[in-house]
Amino acid sequence: MTRLQINFERLKADVQTLATIGRGEDHGLYRMAFSDADMVARNWLQARIEDAGLDYYLDGAANIHARLGWDGERPSVITGSHLDTVPGAGHLDGALGVLTGLECLRTVKEQAIALQYPLECIAFSDEEGRFGGMFGSTALCGLLSPDRILQARDLNGVSIVEAMATHGLDAMEALHAQRNPDSIHAFIELHIEQGPVLDRQKLHIGVVDAISGLFKWQVRLLGEANHAGTTPMSMRRDAFQGLAEISNAIPRILEEHGSPRSVATIGRVELFPGAANVVPGRAEFTLEVRDTDPDILTELANALRRALSAIARRRDLMFEFEVMSELTPAKCDSGIVNTIATLCRDMGINATRMHSGAAHDTQFMTRITRAGMIFVPSKEGRSHSPSEWTSWEDIELGANVLLNSLHRLAGAKV
Ligand SMILES: [Zn+2]
Repeated sequence: MTRLQINFERLKADVQTLATIGRGEDHGLYRMAFSDADMVARNWLQARIEDAGLDYYLDGAANIHARLGWDGERPSVITGSHLDTVPGAGHLDGALGVLTGLECLRTVKEQAIALQYPLECIAFSDEEGRFGGMFGSTALCGLLSPDRILQARDLNGVSIVEAMATHGLDAMEALHAQRNPDSIHAFIELHIEQGPVLDRQKLHIGVVDAISGLFKWQVRLLGEANHAGTTPMSMRRDAFQGLAEISNAIPRILEEHGSPRSVATIGRVELFPGAANVVPGRAEFTLEVRDTDPDILTELANALRRALSAIARRRDLMFEFEVMSELTPAKCDSGIVNTIATLCRDMGINATRMHSGAAHDTQFMTRITRAGMIFVPSKEGRSHSPSEWTSWEDIELGANVLLNSLHRLAGAKV
């Protein structure tokens, strides 16, 4: 069976053009959601969609849809990702999923390939989190509330309501962006891996079978601040020593209670009073733990709580913690995972099944439809930086895997 192929030169030109929109002097991209640069990118995408003769549709959450064969009756096979970036971003995170999706639709239209289901490519709003993140996909899944919209602010205190109003958009309309699950047949997102696994193993495609969930705690260990010269070691209630001990215990706890996919990070630490000659009386730190299995996350939370409490008791410290955030892991649809994996095998591609340690819009799409993801390698795992890079060969390969996956899921018309 001959494989369908996208127009690589056209895709490459799009990737290169979009990479110039919002570029800063440090070469990083600054297309934060609903910034002027984001709006330029959106307008550019709209022109690409219209030039290709595809239908352009903007929903209430300002998610951009390119549509092919949409009739409001048959459910569609959807692909897509996001155009917005973190500050100082690379040119592929999000952008690649939107542009390969657009290229797939253009190819299907140009080659007049008849499909049973319509195709859609979506550029989701605020994936990266200027206003909290995943705004577009949570809206589409019906998970937004008026309160959440009204409270969403960026680091400078600008609300999403104000930011969208600047560009003539009404944030409250996002409540109407909810999509009837019956109107979606399947969803696939292509994305760069943003980690080193594919690159290190010289693999070209990752077929994502699950996306990690997480919990994030703010932990406080309370002891007693004392003179660092006069307080004997045996009489100290040193909060930092408690923190050091829990940090040391993490590998064992993951080994005993986690899975090979478990990761735990203490990413921010503060000691009080924070002087070289004072025994720290208080240690505050974040503890973030991720895994793809909700039961394992619960098990890890319990084990960490037990360990913290044992360490605190032994060292005569008090401990308390606050749950800062929790995100449920998401499983990709096994049928879609198999479709992509089989396709890779048939195409003779060096692929592997893997999980995503980073969050993506797909995480929310799994709640309303069968969903899957395709990863392409990130050079040395670099991402959220101008040095983000994927070889053009891998981009072309990924786009062709996406095209053929969409073709299989949308069903050839007989
Ligand atoms: Zn992304």
